[in-house]
Amino acid sequence: MMMSGPQRSIIALLIFVLILISAAFSQNPPVPQPVPLPPATPAPVDKPYPGTIGLQVDLTDTVRGIMSVHETIPVAPGPFTLLYPQWIPGDHSPTGPIAKLGGLTITADGQRFDWVRDRVDVFAFHVTVPKGVKSLTVDFQYLSPVRSRDGRVAFSSEIADMAWDMVVLYPAGHFVRRIQVSPSVKLPEGWHFASALTVASQTGNLVQFQETNLETLVDSPVYAGIHFQRVDLSPNAANPVYLDLFGDTPASIAITPEQIELHRNLTREAEKLYGSHHYGHYDFLYLLSDKVGGVGLEHHQCSEDGSRANYFTDWAASVDDRDLLAHEYTHSWNGKFRRPADLWTPNFNVPMQDDLLWVYEGMTEYWGFVLTARSGLSPAAHIRDRMAFIAANYDLSPGRTWRPLIDTTNQPTVSQRAPVSWVSWQRPEDYYDEGLLIWLDADTKIREMSNRTKSLDDFAKLFFGVNNGSYVPLTYTFDDVVAALNRVQPYDWATFLHTRVDQLAPHTPKDGFTRGGYRLSYSDTPPDWLKHVEETNVPPLADFSWSLGFSVGGEDALANVWWNSPAFQAGVTPGMRLMAVNDETYNANRLREAIVQAEKTATPIKLLLRREDHFQTVSLDYHGGLRYPKLERIDGSVDLLDAILAPAK
Ligand SMILES: [Zn+2]
Repeated sequence: MMMSGPQRSIIALLIFVLILISAAFSQNPPVPQPVPLPPATPAPVDKPYPGTIGLQVDLTDTVRGIMSVHETIPVAPGPFTLLYPQWIPGDHSPTGPIAKLGGLTITADGQRFDWVRDRVDVFAFHVTVPKGVKSLTVDFQYLSPVRSRDGRVAFSSEIADMAWDMVVLYPAGHFVRRIQVSPSVKLPEGWHFASALTVASQTGNLVQFQETNLETLVDSPVYAGIHFQRVDLSPNAANPVYLDLFGDTPASIAITPEQIELHRNLTREAEKLYGSHHYGHYDFLYLLSDKVGGVGLEHHQCSEDGSRANYFTDWAASVDDRDLLAHEYTHSWNGKFRRPADLWTPNFNVPMQDDLLWVYEGMTEYWGFVLTARSGLSPAAHIRDRMAFIAANYDLSPGRTWRPLIDTTNQPTVSQRAPVSWVSWQRPEDYYDEGLLIWLDADTKIREMSNRTKSLDDFAKLFFGVNNGSYVPLTYTFDDVVAALNRVQPYDWATFLHTRVDQLAPHTPKDGFTRGGYRLSYSDTPPDWLKHVEETNVPPLADFSWSLGFSVGGEDALANVWWNSPAFQAGVTPGMRLMAVNDETYNANRLREAIVQAEKTATPIKLLLRREDHFQTVSLDYHGGLRYPKLERIDGSVDLLDAILAPAK
């Protein structure tokens, strides 16, 4: 049945009248309206901020680890937004420690007035500056964690690691290199300090630094402490480099003359490699502590470094830490002076784009390993073992079948650098170590194609060695990297890199080993350095990754379980505590012995595991014996790898 036009009009009119009547008599609430967004934060522009910000930090509360901040900020009347740094250079992620900020008050001419935190961007604080006010006084505290479960402890009763991004609120609307700051710090009585900043004056324990821009300031942290020693590592007078040691105790900074020489070799080898430097003086800020958390964070003219208190005193136990300084030092060239274009952001609250981290971190990891061997900080054999471990772990990591390497560069934003449960499946930050293997692949390829007349060293000089003495960042793109490689050795480098970085690569990139004269193989005995590290670590460690598929860490808890390994197949997860092996209390030697015995029989290995109050027994039908990765020389092949790791001529 169909209605005529006039009939439809009458019905529509009746419905309209009924709606009007029901609306007039009903008590219905009004239709909800969307809540308006907070006022927009001004975007940064490349214009100087008028006036200089005064920034004073008081570090004298060594008991509670509270850093008190006092700022004076020149302003004009009207809406005004203060930002707390969110995207911290070198972290590659939005991890500015905003949760540690407390006690914020803003006053002008002695009168306190309200601030409002942005409801969407919690790193922004809005105020309205009244007419006639020319300067705001901003006070707050940075509440450094006093226990590790609250975050990295950066301030103990002996040492403070003070990064300026923790202790500054800055005006929105300007590039940070156009905002001038006059910084000062009040130290605890008797404390020493070190920084890449230039000191303007010092009165007692009050240190006034020279005025600088906010970009340089945040890139120039201050270490302070009661036990301090400064060691000159300059390779020559024109290239001043210092090792600034801060320790829990006087013993922890007692570096021996032999150790000094090895560290000085590092700066000599770096000078030979890069043929340039891009700092006035470089300071390794190095804390040796069991109280303050370890760290490795690059800056242009210094680095924040941290190892355990026994780094120098138990030299054999620190073997895995010895590439730390070489890695962070290399960042002065790769990451700071030469910087991926999309990582050079106008201020600390504009998101970073991390897609070139396989160059920024991957190549730095490569040069970190190479310089550690060339300087003698680690024997070449140890560096070869480390490379073997990396490749063997990737062979155990099926995450390669779903996640291309390029996607791992998003991980700092995805997880904000928090640990993940299934490393071999999630492969969170493989751009570091897989990047290393790719650059070894490239280095050996150049050496092979050029008949050993060229190498990645030539790339380093060409790419990083320009503009000697300049501090002004020179950005780079993928095409710049490819062009420089082609200048060293013509080849289809774009395809070489795209294949390894952007496409799924289920097989571990091991061509660098075979071209270098080595192959990955396995031994049933661990190398001596690994035995020492496992036994002396607190808590002791034991690694069964390449046999049963797990490693054991603190309180006998499983640190890592490899995806699809015998342990994984049996339902074992990270975090479970290993209680017993074949019905006897677990210890690492007992499990090693059980693996050796199982090689000769068909009997499975029985493990008793505990997760909270639940106990679980699993049987691992594994008979492959103990396995530790190593690089094995290929007889008769050209030995490029040893040439790479030998001191430069
Ligand atoms: Zn790095």
